[in-house]
Amino acid sequence: MIATGSPADAAAAVIADRRAAEGSADTRLADTGLADLVARRLRDVPDFPQPGIVFKDITPLLADGAAFAAAVAGLARIAGDVDVVAGIEARGFLLAGALACELGCGLVPVRKAGKLPPPTVRQAYALEYGTAEIEVPVQVLAGARVFLVDDVLATGGTLRASTDLVQRAGGRVERIGVLLELGFLNGRSVLADAAPVTALLTI
Ligand code: AMP
Repeated sequence: MIATGSPADAAAAVIADRRAAEGSADTRLADTGLADLVARRLRDVPDFPQPGIVFKDITPLLADGAAFAAAVAGLARIAGDVDVVAGIEARGFLLAGALACELGCGLVPVRKAGKLPPPTVRQAYALEYGTAEIEVPVQVLAGARVFLVDDVLATGGTLRASTDLVQRAGGRVERIGVLLELGFLNGRSVLADAAPVTALLTI
């Protein structure tokens, strides 16, 4: 759509794309300008949180209001018809809150184990760095169509565990959206039978 516009141009282009795609099942992002916009606002932090990991910091994107709006609009465009946005702790919360308002739907947090009051369902999984355990509330997901969002898709373990948890809580993940996909880790493969995945930027 756009090549190298300002964030405001990118936001306008994404919104125009979204309108054009209304009623369509197409989840692809035709807007390479949006990928450029995200790419220019990510910060690489070598050896964080441990040696050998290049941490992809989305803080510059969040701090740029027009760029953040463009990214949220881009994710909203691929959300489809859903009842809630589920955001994964913690950066996924930031995207999910904005997206839920943009889409006019609800928000459900996918939290680190031990943070939510019962009843919840819980699952352990492997990370690119270490292991983790997450949980979701069971009372608000029964029958819900869910758009699952996070900042980064790395090995896919987090999104896979989240998808399984939503299902165990009685919901159904319709789409998955991320700002950034680390394609070389092939996390998409573990989500193949989970839900369609769209990344604003794949590296
Ligand atoms: P994974 O389960 O391996 O796909 O990891 C995805 C989760 O870990 C997301 O919640 C990300 O926020 C975080 N994450 C994994 N790798 C990175 C990375 N290189 N930079 C920033 N966040 C990451």
